[in-house]
Amino acid sequence: KTMINLESIEKHFSGSVVVPPLSLSIQEGEFLTLLGPSGCGKTTLLRMIAGFEEPTAGEIFLDGQALTGVPPYQRDMNMVFQQYALFPHMTVEQNILFGLKMKKVETGESMRRLEEVLRNTQLTELRKRTPKQLSGGQQQRVAIARAIVNNPKVLLLDEPLGALDYQLRKSLQLELKNLQKNLGITFVYVTHDQEEAMAMSDRIAVMNKGRIEQLATPDEIYNRPKTLFVATFIGENNIFASGDSRIAVRPEKVKLYKQDATPQDGRRKNGRITDVVFLGNLRKLYVRLDDEDMTVLAHEYVSDSKGWQAGDPVALGWSEADEV
Ligand code: ADP
Ligand code: MG
Repeated sequence: KTMINLESIEKHFSGSVVVPPLSLSIQEGEFLTLLGPSGCGKTTLLRMIAGFEEPTAGEIFLDGQALTGVPPYQRDMNMVFQQYALFPHMTVEQNILFGLKMKKVETGESMRRLEEVLRNTQLTELRKRTPKQLSGGQQQRVAIARAIVNNPKVLLLDEPLGALDYQLRKSLQLELKNLQKNLGITFVYVTHDQEEAMAMSDRIAVMNKGRIEQLATPDEIYNRPKTLFVATFIGENNIFASGDSRIAVRPEKVKLYKQDATPQDGRRKNGRITDVVFLGNLRKLYVRLDDEDMTVLAHEYVSDSKGWQAGDPVALGWSEADEV
């Protein structure tokens, strides 16, 4: 069932087009991510769904109901921001209950929902603390608890983990994904971090300059990018000219051989290693081609390391089947 439907929505800011006509439908219970570089219009799109911004043209539907003219607080959805925006003098539970009070939910029901959401977000032990007695990750959990306590149809999240450090972000990604699956709430998630999008999403909408370049599962986006932009924005890719078109080959699909070896791969090029970058479990090898003014990136896994060094002449091989 379709939960959100964007029909040819557009957004102009003082004459300049930030979102050209864009259509998108998001399914009930789906974790959909808007992924794209800074400035591509992700926040603008989310704010239009939330109702903080009116589309210049087009129409947005929530569960079949047109939202034009419906103010944000009457839309059955909540938004979570990168800044936690908690009330500093209220405890965790007061912060969570605030919205329910505003909506005049009766006390017994409020308490039942509070306990449930505290459990779901692992905040039960921290319920009496104020925001400044919490870490950044815990504060963001409170913001999420507050946003789901009234059982919205949709949760909109704008780079909610953007302010947290790498390790914490990784663990909250999994936590948030599990929470979403358990609750069954439709999530529309914004990030510029492609790894995060890959780890969490059912589907990813890759955005560039206000347009959706590809809407697909993480697997499809990675393995079958539809445009050059998607091929280069998601992960790393080598782009070769091939007649009028261009082909992309992932670094992990490029094999390295001694230059006098005869690889059986369908494609073969000779070159010389210019740089070796150590990355822990793998090394990145930059190879300058002999016959083309171009550098190719290949991965060498430390587990089967041949110990390539800068200056080594190599043959590169890959299979035509790995070209996109
Ligand atoms: P993202 O969230 O992907 O980084 P935004 O949606 O914030 O991108 O911004 C997209 C573009 O719209 C940017 O060029 C930004 O400068 C412009 N923009 C956003 N909000 C406004 C506004 N209120 N007035 C004018 N321009 C805006
Ligand atoms: Mg933004």
